[in-house]
Amino acid sequence: METFDWIVIGNGLAGAALSYELARLGLAVLLVDDGDPNSATRCSYGGIAYWSGTDAITRELCRLGIERHRQLSDELGAATEFRELDLLLTFPPEVDGANLVGQYGRFAIAPQLISPQEAHELEPQLNVDAIGGAFTVRHGHVNPIKTIEGVNQAVRRLGGQQLFATVTGLVRVNNRVTGMMTATQAYAAGNVVVAAGGYSRTMLRNARLSVPLYHTHAEIVALPEVDQPLRALIMPGVATRFAAEAAASDPATDSLWDGPPHKIAPPVLDAGVIRFLDGSTYVGQVSRFRTDLGTDAIAAVQSEAVIRQGSVPQMPCLANVPGQWRHCLVTFSRDGLPLIGPLPGVEGLHIFSGFTSPFAVLLPIAQRFASWVNHKQQTVADDLIEKMLVTRFSDS
Ligand SMILES: Cc1cc2nc3c(=O)[nH]c(=O)nc-3n(C[C@H](O)[C@H](O)[C@H](O)COP(=O)(O)OP(=O)(O)OC[C@H]3O[C@@H](n4cnc5c(N)ncnc54)[C@H](O)[C@@H]3O)c2cc1C
Repeated sequence: METFDWIVIGNGLAGAALSYELARLGLAVLLVDDGDPNSATRCSYGGIAYWSGTDAITRELCRLGIERHRQLSDELGAATEFRELDLLLTFPPEVDGANLVGQYGRFAIAPQLISPQEAHELEPQLNVDAIGGAFTVRHGHVNPIKTIEGVNQAVRRLGGQQLFATVTGLVRVNNRVTGMMTATQAYAAGNVVVAAGGYSRTMLRNARLSVPLYHTHAEIVALPEVDQPLRALIMPGVATRFAAEAAASDPATDSLWDGPPHKIAPPVLDAGVIRFLDGSTYVGQVSRFRTDLGTDAIAAVQSEAVIRQGSVPQMPCLANVPGQWRHCLVTFSRDGLPLIGPLPGVEGLHIFSGFTSPFAVLLPIAQRFASWVNHKQQTVADDLIEKMLVTRFSDS
């Protein structure tokens, strides 16, 4: 049986980028994914918030991330459809935008407050009567699916292998993970990394390991074709889901995530719209704070109606455009930084998950993480990676 240097579980943005960086170092990589079309990456807007760094670490990551995106199509020999566009963070008429200026001032490049009319000039499809104004900033954008495809092709060119199968378990011999299993076969590796997004916590729990990772059920409506050339990416100026994420990841509620299905907080709507270059458009998003993984408890028709009601008043051109409701899991950590690195007490097993706003920061993290794990035996220090290690939560 072939023994890979690394098996990467999950071909979302995290697993794809990491497998690429490991393959670039000349390592033998197997990237495995179950092919679920509703991964978080495949439901994502693909926005690159390179302006959003708030401290030395995130500012540096954003700077490195946007530099990489700007040349990634050339590097991969495949179009990621990178472009820069206006982000419009709209707020309703009853909100006084002046009260939000302080909240946006903490970012490396602060979004600027503009009137409804100015927002309409940036995005002519916006209904000026439905908004009180907006904050705007230049934002990067890629097509998430094309980006993953381009990265996967590059991995294969570098000799990496891709497997389409569901991982059913990890192979563990005493305190060492030596590979993973699918329904039909076991695969051996020197190292296994779990980059399975919202499924990572459960996969590790099944291997009797606990990590403080949480998820939301995110729901969007995908419109295959919108004729109007929407120019801007629209998102809410007052995002409601951060308070719910804080409640969901509170240490006091942590054990609920390993018990029977539990509703942690009421669902929230963050109205957003992005039109991709091929005319397909995502309208989002409902976030649901439930500890289970499936969609059984979610009423799709009702959810689609809520999503449409959130966006159509702002963007009347989207009314009656046929679409398909889609659902995915989005994972996050307790402190906004990802959970990466070797899992304590088990050799050969790593995690690479829990990214917030990953399109801005993930490419440089994957590059530095790959280099860090590859040189770890020689104890090459990397302050940035070490701040993100899963061991920072060891006490809790
Ligand atoms: C509507 C929406 C809009 C968003 N917009 C943005 C944005 O503009 N900018 C931004 O930075 N972020 C955005 N995000 C967040 C971002 O998309 C996610 O954080 C990111 O894509 C997560 O990537 P991931 O690789 O960690 O997880 P995923 O993309 O979920 O990938 C995990 C993969 O693991 C696979 N998997 C799981 N279990 C198994 C198994 N047992 N065996 C095999 N494979 C398995 C899954 O099928 C999946 O392909 C958005 C998210 C949503 C929902």
